Amino acid sequence: MIKTLKVRLYPNEEQTVLLEKHFGGCRFVWNHFLEVRNRYYAEHMNDKKKGLTAFDTMKMLTALKEELTWLNEINSQSLQHSLVELDKAFRQFFRHNASYPTFKSKRDKQYFIIPSGFKAKGNRLIIPKFTEGIKYRDKSSIPNNIKQIVITKDADLYYASIQYESNEELEGGKGIVGLDMGIKHFLTTSDGIEVDPANSYRKFERKIKREQRRLSRKKKGSKNSKKQMVKVQTMHKKIRDARTDFNHKVSTAIAKHYGTVVIENLNIQGMQRNHHLAKSIADQGWYRFKTMLTYKLGWREAKLIEIGRFDPSSRMCSRCGNIKHDLKLSDRIYHCDVCGLTIDRDLNAAINIRNIGLIKVGQGMSEFTPVESAMAGYLNREGISYHSLKQEPQSLQR
Ligand SMILES: [Zn+2]
Repeated sequence: MIKTLKVRLYPNEEQTVLLEKHFGGCRFVWNHFLEVRNRYYAEHMNDKKKGLTAFDTMKMLTALKEELTWLNEINSQSLQHSLVELDKAFRQFFRHNASYPTFKSKRDKQYFIIPSGFKAKGNRLIIPKFTEGIKYRDKSSIPNNIKQIVITKDADLYYASIQYESNEELEGGKGIVGLDMGIKHFLTTSDGIEVDPANSYRKFERKIKREQRRLSRKKKGSKNSKKQMVKVQTMHKKIRDARTDFNHKVSTAIAKHYGTVVIENLNIQGMQRNHHLAKSIADQGWYRFKTMLTYKLGWREAKLIEIGRFDPSSRMCSRCGNIKHDLKLSDRIYHCDVCGLTIDRDLNAAINIRNIGLIKVGQGMSEFTPVESAMAGYLNREGISYHSLKQEPQSLQR
């Protein structure tokens, strides 16, 4: 399995300049050849060969470097990788999987990719063009079988994401669980654990707004404005890191404890159109969470089953299948008029999601029996706040 280790880099002044040149050079190559490919297509759309390939642009890059000699300061493999990425973006567009490739700006995420030629020596990471190596924080040792390294900049800090092949065998969990994702609760499991959302954003929101106002009052391009900009970026980074950490902990807990996980399909297109801020932030969080959960389950040869957005998952009674048409969004408790089941609304939905997953894998419905989940202990240890929904129905009416 491919795993990633992210380490902080401590470049010296000279290396910082060269790293910035790499970000800029790769961006330049992307933008330049995006334009070249656009122009070629406009001029040849009626010809047999309508567009350029990655190989065509690589040959053109070699010629371009004779003209723009500053490009030679940059690792040629990283520049070529930009062309491979650009080609991939075009192919995804033609397969209708993505929107048309766009130009990159300095304000976008700063990164470049190193496909080979790296090694770790002492506390230094040696990559092409940085022969003396860049210092890194050696909390964990750098693995041997590195596949690729992505260098990024976040606020004013530099990182290397080291992707490597790991032989580690991970033991998977047992049983099947349904997850109901929500805003009020991050998720509810079908065996009765409700994980609270990470509210790191709200805590910081007012503080960030204040610093952002301060930034807008400073003269653009001035030293103070740049300093304030880094301050704002650093605060955003803190929130991002806290969210990533939260998503990692919760997805690990689930991947460790269950053999099959059932979730509802995320409506990605709806997500992009969604103007409701809280909702769209939550959606992005789930999307990242789902990505993590998918690969962590994959490591353990566990299964992820996605079911369609199934409206009755919240309106259907998980015990008798009756559909409650008058269930309001504000109803936190589900009460079935037919069989008398009284249950937390999200728990009811999670059980339905699990049962639909069971039908999909051909195991049929199974009786809902709440089990003491080992996951609760894990969440506790990791400092994630959660509730157990295994109380008597009466006590659910809070
Ligand atoms: Zn019922």
